[in-house]
Amino acid sequence: MVDFAAIRGEFPILDQDIHGHPLVYLDSAATSQKPQCVIDAESEFYRTINAGVHRGAHELAARSTMAFEDARAKVARLVGANAEEGEEEIVVTAGATAGLNLLATAFGNASLGRGGAAAQRFALKQGDEIVVSKAEHHSVLLPFQELAARTGATLKWLELTEDGRVRTDDLDEIITERTKVVAVTHVGNVTGAITDIAPIIRRTHEVGGVFVLDACQSVPHLKVDFHALDVDFAAWSAHKMYGPTGVGFLYGKREMLEALPPASFGGSMVELAWMDQPAQYMLPPARFEAGTQPVAQVVAAGVAAEWMMSIGMDQLEAHERKLTGELLKMGDIEGIRILGPRENADRIGTVAFDINGVHPHDVGQFIDAQGIAIRVGHHCAQPVHRHFGLYASNRASCGVYNNVEDIHALLDALGKVRAFFG
Ligand code: PLP
Repeated sequence: MVDFAAIRGEFPILDQDIHGHPLVYLDSAATSQKPQCVIDAESEFYRTINAGVHRGAHELAARSTMAFEDARAKVARLVGANAEEGEEEIVVTAGATAGLNLLATAFGNASLGRGGAAAQRFALKQGDEIVVSKAEHHSVLLPFQELAARTGATLKWLELTEDGRVRTDDLDEIITERTKVVAVTHVGNVTGAITDIAPIIRRTHEVGGVFVLDACQSVPHLKVDFHALDVDFAAWSAHKMYGPTGVGFLYGKREMLEALPPASFGGSMVELAWMDQPAQYMLPPARFEAGTQPVAQVVAAGVAAEWMMSIGMDQLEAHERKLTGELLKMGDIEGIRILGPRENADRIGTVAFDINGVHPHDVGQFIDAQGIAIRVGHHCAQPVHRHFGLYASNRASCGVYNNVEDIHALLDALGKVRAFFG
């Protein structure tokens, strides 16, 4: 049995009052809080190891490199990726947004003929199609919309069901022989709905396309195995999985990473550089990690991954499912509409909602005055809000540190909103 009360105690930030009330943090979909071991890992790195990686002949540089690569291996283990030297499938990025832009830029470079014959599988031209879904965060939608504009490809999308799930009943019409890239979220950051990605991946591969997964809201909450899922690429951020800000990861099947041309250029990604000849780039993952890396943050993200695995993703998932069940009771409060599945199946504990007649910013302020942190706005997902006929919403989202009392505090406060605003 996992002691979730003890786990909550590992988060020092939660032990404080906000506006005279104990803090209730329900904004983990925006960013998660950090356990003490992650906070310690970063400062310990700076106190004892700090040095550049993959270069320098001194002892600290060697230790730093070891810590960095060890962290990559831990993160790989969390998501079922390869970590053996020469087979690495995890690229360090500055976050999910950076990882998705890396891909879109690299596909654009392939479209210009960069990367040779192997990269042609990623090349796009007029008449080709890119498919996303209407549930996408802007970090998926915009890089691929830009890629379409740059290459002349057409952007298409999967529609949503009434309760905001990605529709998979018309895949054969949307994903066609012209489809080169499909990029879809694993879990909607507004709806909390888990996308039924298996048929989308199958169809993408059937037509010879490349499948990109936005795993930002799945890796922190679900047991994820990218090999078993058969995704080609997946991007996510460390700060939503109890790790530091400023760092994230891009998974790529090894053969995909080997065929993909680089997206940014500079130090540490080149084998040979001349004045008058093209450079010869390193193998992945170095080819995609130009410049000095956020080593302390990566090391701490590795500790976060290990910490999650030590709890057990099954246990973590079961704990959050219990909280989700409580959270969904908000749908019984008069005037509240849940924007996403009402049932506690195929969803996570991220629940967006609208309160009839009360602007989300007013809701957020009212709730905040009681020490409860939720998110209000469009959550960087305007199309999904339009789907629900709204511009903005409120969103409560759980982490492993939340307990049932947190959810009840929110439900109590929500029950008073409409009376307060008349
Ligand atoms: N995708 C989803 C589903 C998200 O929830 C987020 C963050 O809110 C992102 C992408 C972008 O992540 P980041 O801002 O950490 O790059």
